[in-house]
Amino acid sequence: MSGIRSTVRVAPGILFVEGPLSNWTVFHGAGAVELVDCGYPADLPLVEESIRIAGADPADLRRILITHGHSDHLGASARLAAERGVVVAASPAELPNVRRDVTEQVTVADLFPSIFKRGTVRWVVAAVRAGGLGDVGVRDAVAVEGESILLSTGHELQLVPAPGHTTGSVCFFEPESQSLLSGDAVVSGHPLLRDSGDLQQLPGFFQHDADEAARSARRLVLCDAARILPGHGPIVELAPYAAG
Ligand SMILES: [Zn+2]
Repeated sequence: MSGIRSTVRVAPGILFVEGPLSNWTVFHGAGAVELVDCGYPADLPLVEESIRIAGADPADLRRILITHGHSDHLGASARLAAERGVVVAASPAELPNVRRDVTEQVTVADLFPSIFKRGTVRWVVAAVRAGGLGDVGVRDAVAVEGESILLSTGHELQLVPAPGHTTGSVCFFEPESQSLLSGDAVVSGHPLLRDSGDLQQLPGFFQHDADEAARSARRLVLCDAARILPGHGPIVELAPYAAG
């Protein structure tokens, strides 16, 4: 579990990347690159590799939009911000978690009741190795303003609040390709879930507020996305709406 699992060219300038343990999406165009999420801290070389696979240059990375401030989505954002001036942005409600003024993240103690379930120890070891327990907070992260974000690549993303997994969790909707980048609000697989491929929620101990997360997931089902680009698991193509 050390390399990129798969990449999917969703639309011009949009590459969905299934990383070793979590996913991210590369947007590129007009000489610029922006990301939604960026894996674990140790995934930085893979993030750069995926930008090259997309046909772009990692040096052109301008901004990372974060669905929520968990270490498997924040990745090496802090380092990229400090060393290369990359802007790291999240919803206003998620900023305290991204900056680590508060910490809403599952701990090893939370997992203890599940430790004898198949796959748990292996996943914990892989997550820790990938930097999951490190200090990933981005002190100078900024808030994304408004409901619609124009990327420097020419793409537009709409902010879709999906609280529950964390207080300020969001999804991003790309209207041109009708893709919903769902973060961890809904996923299609995870080493600690039995089934892979179908849309589902992460196990309850991963949710900051499980009831609110369930309400958000139900609301997302009503959105008019043609496909879901989840934070974990493969891309999910939704059946086109059949008229009549
Ligand atoms: Zn998460």
